[in-house]
Formats: sequence, structure tokens, C-alpha cells
Amino acid sequence: MTFTIRGIAVSSGIAIGRAVMVASGRADVAHYFVDESQVSAELARVKDAKNTVVDELIRLQHTLVMREAKDAPTEIAAMMDVHMMLLQDQTLQDGVMHWITERHYNAEWALATQFEVLARQFDEMEDEYLRERKGDLEQVVERVLKVLQGKPSVLPHVAESQGEDAALVLVAHDLSPADMLQFKDSVFAGFVTDVGGKTSHTAIVARSMDIPAVVGARTASQMISQDDLIIIDGDAGEIVVNPTAETLALYRDRQQIAILEREHLKLLKHTITVTKDGQAVELLANIERPEDTAAAIEAGAVGVGLFRSEFLFMGRDGKLPDEEEQYAAYTMAVKGMQGLPVTIRTVDVGADKPLDAQTSRDQSHLNPALGLRAIRWCLAEPDMFRTQLRAILRAATHGQIHLLIPMLMSAGEIQLALKQIELARDELDQRGVAHGAVKLGAMIEIPAAAIALPLFIKYFDFLSLGTNDLIQYTLAIDRADESVAHLYDPLHPAVLHLIASTIRQCQEAGIGVSVCGEMAGDVSMTRLLLGMGLRCFSMHPSQILSVKREVLASNAAQLAKLAKKVLRSDDPASLLK
Ligand code: PEP
Ligand code: MG
Repeated sequence: MTFTIRGIAVSSGIAIGRAVMVASGRADVAHYFVDESQVSAELARVKDAKNTVVDELIRLQHTLVMREAKDAPTEIAAMMDVHMMLLQDQTLQDGVMHWITERHYNAEWALATQFEVLARQFDEMEDEYLRERKGDLEQVVERVLKVLQGKPSVLPHVAESQGEDAALVLVAHDLSPADMLQFKDSVFAGFVTDVGGKTSHTAIVARSMDIPAVVGARTASQMISQDDLIIIDGDAGEIVVNPTAETLALYRDRQQIAILEREHLKLLKHTITVTKDGQAVELLANIERPEDTAAAIEAGAVGVGLFRSEFLFMGRDGKLPDEEEQYAAYTMAVKGMQGLPVTIRTVDVGADKPLDAQTSRDQSHLNPALGLRAIRWCLAEPDMFRTQLRAILRAATHGQIHLLIPMLMSAGEIQLALKQIELARDELDQRGVAHGAVKLGAMIEIPAAAIALPLFIKYFDFLSLGTNDLIQYTLAIDRADESVAHLYDPLHPAVLHLIASTIRQCQEAGIGVSVCGEMAGDVSMTRLLLGMGLRCFSMHPSQILSVKREVLASNAAQLAKLAKKVLRSDDPASLLK
């Protein structure tokens, strides 16, 4: 049956492919295709892993029998029997074999996929006892996955999806930003998640992958089944499930047009970014990993305006990267930008970017967006913070680094942060380790900071407007909550007033100002921001050429008049159509 699901559009384009259901906790399972020649080896891996688990279970049962005379509860022995039975179940085995031989999924992926298929069947069972066996199946699958993960394929590789019909799109209830990042460079052609808002960090990572994505699709992961053919319309925020032949043909045409348009845009790569009336504009890149600098250079970025360094810290079960690891990562980013400046933002974990699943659970009863996030966490963990600062200062010997601090709001915090930078330099001096000069910047992303801007101008070399958070905190809208996503309004007069006054005051003071929130990469906002006087935009590499096209077609002097009108209007959106 064909049907359409609506969600929030986060990354434009059309993706057409078979649905792969990924459970939130199972995103770390490797997803890659194996070659035809590897299929039998992959099947053997599953068989070996299964046999290992069978041996484990037999050993466990044996231990229980030995203890039975004393105190071993008989339910445990019964549970072992159930696990053994599930492990030998033919539907599980046949399913796994199908995904490997027919679809060429690697063993872990095949097992996780078949689990999702069976889990649905368990959910639909009338009998409560049988329904509850899903938990047992999950435990058994976890055991096999663990064994498999200890014995990776001989030839793990990220193969290309094989032809259009074999394209795959990922469907999940929720994915953390760290999980999402794992799918960068993966086999998936598109993403759908049930939860998330347009500027949630999961959405931001999806957008950075430059493949169509829809978030906030509510019950999509329940309505879509494994292997359904789906169309993701990343512009309209729609998902068409099991489309008719006509609908499919229509979307295939649109997909082709979008591909041609992208090819056409590439011609602008070397064009200097100036408005029609000669105003030079800088287009910088937002990155999550040092290797993303390749895409930044490819798109013609003139630097990195935001390196979200927290992605080096997330999803590591609390084992934070040490100074050497960070130094290597920042140096790689600096070298990757070939002499162009790199703005490294100090770690900004918290809220919808938890360090790991445990922290996320620990904070579930609080309001983490207002909690110990970003610089607040760094100042509470000064050793961790200085480790990062030392790594950044050392990497600055290899090229231009701008150091950017997130979420600052008061003079006290600014002074404490600057003190830590000074201490980090002293520590390097004491160790006799070389370090370089950096420009210092602050994110303006809390209304208090935008209102008390002179304070920030006094202490910093440059400021960067984090509009994602500025909107969240000004309007009291959780950016990650799809139930209030319709109220998240970048054009609210209060938001526009804060942005415009920050840009104006920076210009008057003669210090650099950029926007690095998602507004900077949204072409529908380019003219307004230019009109407000913004000359430095930082965005995902994939957005740079579209924004450049908009800048090239703009007249800054005329847009200044438009911006004035917009700022006086009760209904700014109507003036920007
Ligand atoms: C912002 O808040 O606009 C920003 C760029 O930072 P992040 O999205 O990582 O919070
Ligand atoms: Mg922010």
C-alpha cells in the first residue's frame, strides 16, 4: 500500500531506496556491502559466531546445573533454553542468509536487520508471553553481535550501493549526533528519523552529509517496514512509502533535474564571492571532523568558520581524547585547509549532544539545554579544557587557527575562560613545547550575550552568531523537540533584532562577525543577512555554492533598505517572498 508521511525537511534533494530500519541502540553496528566473492566467508562468520554463542550458553547451563543443588533459580535455566532455541531458529538463520546472499550486507548488518524484522513480528503477537520473548531474542542477537564485532570481516570495506534499485535509506526512531556521524561516508542515500527538529544536532549532521533527510517524522519508524521502497523528499519534508510507478517516475525525473542543477552550480567554485555592487563576502565551512576539510576545499570555502570539536569527544563511553590525539586532529584540519584559517570551537557537549548514552540517560529528568553545557562544562572540568586548549595552541604552529568559545554569557565566565587559555600557554612553556598565536572569538548564542554585546567586543577579536541556539533561547523553543518545531522561527522580530544589532555593533567597533548557525546556509535568508550588513557566512560545504549564487545576484545597498523594512515589520516573512 502506498502512503505519505510528513516530517521536517532538513537536507534537500530526493533519495529513492529500500528502507533499512536501524534501532537507536544499534547504530554502532557496521554497515557495508560485501563482494560476491566474500559472501560465503561472511556466512561462515555468522555460523562461527553462532556456534561460539551456543558453546557459551552450554557452558553457562552447565555451571547452573552444577549450582542447582545450592541456589540457582530454575527460571534462569529455562531462559537459557529459550535463548538456545531462539539462536537455532530457522527464521533467524534464513533471514540472515537472505540479507547476506541477496543483498550483500555484511554479517553484523544482516543480523541486526533480521532482528528488526522479527522484533516487529513479536510486537504484533497477541500472546503476552510470546510478545515478551522479543527481549530474549534481543539478548541472543546482542551476544552474536559481540562475537562478530570481535572478529571483523577480512575485507571490510564501504562498497558503493549497487545500482539505483539497490540504494538504501536509513529509517530510525532516533539517532544521536554521534551515531549519525558514524553513517557519514556510509552506504545510505538518505535518512528518516521520527524525532528531531530542523536545527537539532542530528539534523545538522545529516545535512552535513549532503544527502536528503527528513526528521521529526513522528511514527515513520513504525509505519515503514524493512525493505519497503521509499522516496525521501528532503525539500518538502515528505516520505512516500511504496510509491506507485507514476509517482516513482515523477520523483526520478526530479532527482535527475536536481543532479544536473548541482553540476551546474559547480561552475561557480572559482568565482570570487562579491555582490553586484562590489561587496566582498566570505563563505566559510562548518565541519565536524578534520577529514571534512576536503569537502570544504572542494566547495571553494575560504576557511573553516566552525569546527565542532565536540564530535571528537562523543560516543566514546566517556574516554576523552588526550592532548596528542586532539593535536593530531586539529593539525590535520589546519593542513587540510592549505593555509586558510580554521576556526576551532572548544568542546560544546551537552543538551542534544550528550557525550555518550549514559550521560544522556543521567540527564533525562533535567533541562540539559539550560544545564552544564559547552563552556560551562569546560569550566567545571578545567583539566579536560586545558588539555584541549594546549592541543589547539600547539596545532596553531602549523597554520592559522581562530579559537572560538561557545555559550558564554557573563564577564565572569569570559575571564575564567581566558585565564584557562593563559594557563594552557604557561603549561606548554613549562614543558618547552611550541605553540602558536590564535585569534580569540566568542559565540553569541545566548540572548544575554547579544544584549550585553559591548562586554564581548571588549574581550574578543571576533564574534560568531550561533543562530541555532540564539533562536532556541530567545523563543524558549527546544531546537530538538519536533512537537514545537513549528514555533521555531528564525524570522521572529526579537531574533532578527538581536542578530542585526550584533552585526551593527561589531561593524562599529571594527571587529569581525560571522553567522555560523544554520541560517547562514539557508538561501532564503541570504538576502536578509546581507542587508543587515553580514559579510561572513559559515555553513556546511554542500550549501556554499547555492549561497554563493544568491550573493552574486544580490545588490547589498538595496538589500540594506529591505532589511530595515523587515526589522520594522510585524510579519517579516511576507517581505522576503
Ligand atoms: C549555533 O548554536 O548556532 C551553533 C552554530 O552551534 P551548535 O549548532 O553546534 O549549537
Ligand atoms: Mg550553539
